[in-house]
Amino acid sequence: MGRKVVVVGAGIVGLTLAKELAIHGVDVQVYDAKREVSDGAAKASGIFSISGLGLIGIDPATALVNRLNGAVLHAGRERLRIKASETKAYVVDRAMLAKSCREAAARAGAHITLGKRFDREELRKIASDKENIIVGADGAVSTVASAFSFPKIKEYVLTYKAEYRNAAVDDPELAGLFFSNEIAYRFFGWSCPYSKDRVEIGIGISDRAKISSSAAFAKFAKSDAVSAIVKNAERVNGYASIIPLSSREITVKDNVVLVGDAAGQVKATTGGGVIFGCSCAKVLAQVIRANIEKGTSLRAYEKEWRKRYGVDLKMHDFLHNYYSNLRVSNMEVFLKVSKMLGAEKFFSEYGDMDRPSLMLKRFFLRGLAK
Ligand SMILES: Cc1cc2nc3c(=O)[nH]c(=O)nc-3n(C[C@H](O)[C@H](O)[C@H](O)COP(=O)(O)OP(=O)(O)OC[C@H]3O[C@@H](n4cnc5c(N)ncnc54)[C@H](O)[C@@H]3O)c2cc1C
Repeated sequence: MGRKVVVVGAGIVGLTLAKELAIHGVDVQVYDAKREVSDGAAKASGIFSISGLGLIGIDPATALVNRLNGAVLHAGRERLRIKASETKAYVVDRAMLAKSCREAAARAGAHITLGKRFDREELRKIASDKENIIVGADGAVSTVASAFSFPKIKEYVLTYKAEYRNAAVDDPELAGLFFSNEIAYRFFGWSCPYSKDRVEIGIGISDRAKISSSAAFAKFAKSDAVSAIVKNAERVNGYASIIPLSSREITVKDNVVLVGDAAGQVKATTGGGVIFGCSCAKVLAQVIRANIEKGTSLRAYEKEWRKRYGVDLKMHDFLHNYYSNLRVSNMEVFLKVSKMLGAEKFFSEYGDMDRPSLMLKRFFLRGLAK
């Protein structure tokens, strides 16, 4: 028997990894507890930057819901409006995206088994055969991570979101971010327009908060800014979910590796994990192939993903720590001062949802060129 890769979790990250490996002839088996890969995808929204989708090679065409040019940041009475002249991000139907990723992985030759939930004992047994490489792509509350005692994720965000029809969306090209530590403790609320009259409203709160995300959502939905959008609208669903807010200190142990939400490869500012998770999956695919073909260590993955994406993830951590500790009144001042300093123009021109380091680089390079 040759080396086998067992991927636990057929979310977008596990499927991206499986496709990359299968294309190169690696024997890869993917397992998921769910009976349909699209189950659960509906709990997560999908706003992805065009540049990020290009980076991970995902074509959103079949799952496209809306195009966004920017966002409005709200705190108390203050607003910061960032609107570029061209589309910056896509709103994507996550269930459709999950289906197309599954088809692509299967076409490449990955074996996908649905309806199989692994427990810790089973995982330890599979890992005891050193011919197997186990990848935990099993999301925020990773069984693989706990089975092999990986360091814990320090903070989670509990989310609740719902879709509304017949809503009154002011500008369907702009998402809304609502900062209020009193309602969305250490995170924020959002509006994600699908069209002029369809919108998703959501909220995230730190797991250190003393209330549930659904209770926080109920409060948020009654706030002036949100009720202006959904006052006469019909709510069609509601989902709770969870996002890890920090990466684990270790993501490789012997023949067990973590990737995506299981590793905490998520932007702490927004909770977005698809672009970084899939980018890290691509790095992992290269490292696994080198391990199988040349016997190099899987530990190269730890070094490589941190080298490529660690700085940006740390910048997101830093920004999250800053805004999440501000009271509404201070956040109002922050937005006001940012506006005075020209932040609306700056972010419209140089903004990068995923990689603040590239944003700064572009800013300085253009400054030098002037
Ligand atoms: C409300 C919300 C909004 C979001 N919005 C965005 C956004 O706009 N942009 C963005 O980039 N990201 C967003 N995210 C984050 C994004 O959804 C995640 O980062 C991404 O889905 C992580 O993918 P993953 O494959 O690592 O994990 P998951 O998608 O969580 O997949 C893990 C899979 O593992 C399976 N599994 C778990 N345990 C086991 C087990 N023991 N055995 C077998 N299978 C198991 C699960 O069933 C699941 O299918 C959002 C998240 C939420 C909750």
